[in-house]
Amino acid sequence: MLENFKPEVAIILRSDETIKKFKLKRVSINTSFGPVHRCYIGKIYDIPVLIIYGRFNGEKVPSNQINFQQTIEAVKNVGVNKLIGTFVVGGIHPNMPQGSVYVLGDLVGVGNYNINWNQNESFHNAEMYNPFCSTLTKQLCDASRKMDFPVKENAIYVSFYGYPRIETKAELNFYNKMGWDIVGQTCDPEATCARLNQICYAGVAVQIDDPSGRAEYINKLEDNKKANAYVEDIKHCRERTTKIILQFLKDYKKYDCNVCSKMSRKNKNFREFPDEFYE
Ligand SMILES: [Zn+2]
Repeated sequence: MLENFKPEVAIILRSDETIKKFKLKRVSINTSFGPVHRCYIGKIYDIPVLIIYGRFNGEKVPSNQINFQQTIEAVKNVGVNKLIGTFVVGGIHPNMPQGSVYVLGDLVGVGNYNINWNQNESFHNAEMYNPFCSTLTKQLCDASRKMDFPVKENAIYVSFYGYPRIETKAELNFYNKMGWDIVGQTCDPEATCARLNQICYAGVAVQIDDPSGRAEYINKLEDNKKANAYVEDIKHCRERTTKIILQFLKDYKKYDCNVCSKMSRKNKNFREFPDEFYE
């Protein structure tokens, strides 16, 4: 089936409704890490797409154990060079409530995630001065402006690797002082892995909690009142990012990227020491 189907865009998206509505077909994609079974293909508004149902392959694990390289390899193996990540994230700013939506503009990595590099391949660091593809991001922003809810563009995403936990009050205060918008655990290394593979990458995120909501939850527990943790509202929040993705696909304009496909710091001339010292 995949031989005859070439997706134009891949999207990491957990939306049962979208898969049902557009009658997407589940396929498995082979990678050097083993098969990825959570892949769906089909057309959404005439655009051939690959939907990857989230980032967990098989079972839920802490974020530093997610195999981001495998997901990116699956995208690459079906010949797609454009990828959008959708995210549920934590809020930082006290005035931005749960359900606030963002198109990502930059990211800050405060974790220490690392990947296992295949030593049969030459190594290079990803060029991440602009971590997101500007053309793909612009199309996401255009779609966002058609929504009936506000969307903050050019958002700064802090990537923090759980350990596993979410942020402390002091950490959120610090991020807020730095002017960062949202915090999550998956955008980096996903964006980095995409860049290493010359894939155009962009992101859209929805906030599923906020500092005051988290404080309120704890206060209620302290007062022995019934408290609903924010997790119950994730589905409702995700509907917003899905809506942007569908609008994006409706208006999607095909393009060849002059930047992401060429951005590489590969150094093919690397030697451990100068050739003249070999004997
Ligand atoms: Zn690009």
